[in-house]
Amino acid sequence: MHHFVPSQVFVQPDALAYPATRQATSKLKQLGVPITVTSRVPAAGRELSPAERYREAKRTLSLRVRKELDFASCKPSAHYQLPLTSSCPGLCEYCYLSTTLGPGPYIRAYVNVEEILSRAEKYIQQRLPDETYFEGAATSDPVPVEYLTGSLAKAIEFFARQSKARFRFVTKFTDIDSLLKVEHGGHTRFRFSINSQHVIEKFEHGTPRLKARIAAANRVLHAGYPLGFLIGPILVFEHWEKAYAEMFEMLRDGLDEIINADVTFELITHRFTRRGKELQLAVFPETELPLEEDERRFKFGQFGYGKFVYRKETMSQFDEYFTRTIGNMFPRARIEYLV
Ligand code: SF4
Repeated sequence: MHHFVPSQVFVQPDALAYPATRQATSKLKQLGVPITVTSRVPAAGRELSPAERYREAKRTLSLRVRKELDFASCKPSAHYQLPLTSSCPGLCEYCYLSTTLGPGPYIRAYVNVEEILSRAEKYIQQRLPDETYFEGAATSDPVPVEYLTGSLAKAIEFFARQSKARFRFVTKFTDIDSLLKVEHGGHTRFRFSINSQHVIEKFEHGTPRLKARIAAANRVLHAGYPLGFLIGPILVFEHWEKAYAEMFEMLRDGLDEIINADVTFELITHRFTRRGKELQLAVFPETELPLEEDERRFKFGQFGYGKFVYRKETMSQFDEYFTRTIGNMFPRARIEYLV
């Protein structure tokens, strides 16, 4: 199995006391990755262009202690974010994290997993008798560093023991086999982020292709996890209906036993903020993403950033198309939302 190998790693001194740090650094040493103990990740060289700085950050890992233990809310997929990691090694031109992570989005992995999970337990208690949902991928793709930290496995096992809480995360990566044997109790929804091959080829760099993601999803299905697919960003382009139909066909053909499985779809249409757009243009100056503000509808966002979303007519077209196509091809699946 192919692992993501960072080019440099910075370890905060207070992270050294945690077992996840020892586990990660011993693997990193074997891989020959340079490790520096320091309280601050050094700023990237000034001689680098924004694109180079961005790429360097995406290969840099920081192992640190998460001190902020208040969890942010996480609409529409869950009640709270579960902060295990942030950023990821992928280079998707449209990345929705551009707005919040800024120009140097190095990867952070939080090693105090036990503390984070005890905090989750308090949130669960507060909402009783209701169930509480936690999202493990709100500010990251958590899979690429999992072989180093084992945090997702710990979270999955923790949620298996919770009768009133559920966990979910989403990934584009396929390095998931370490999670297949984990005791999940059916409490973790394992989701893959997919898109039409056109969107993947054009805008996603450094991520596994559609076929590999579907093959990984099939292994997850066999491991008995509730499975989900997040389709996003949904974009309008020439023959988009046909391109998405082909994606659904590949999905149907690539999954065994789909008819009896508990499968969900989440549909996220393309949107951008002004800050995110500036960053995307700085890092990918040649991008062909549709970033024309005049063609969009402006909507005030959850975290104070207004965003440019597709207009109502386009949204209704998406709604009609995806409801019909998913209904025909995956009659037992559930569409959780379209935003
Ligand atoms: S994989 Fe997800 S988090 Fe990583 S760059 Fe792509 S969109 Fe952003």
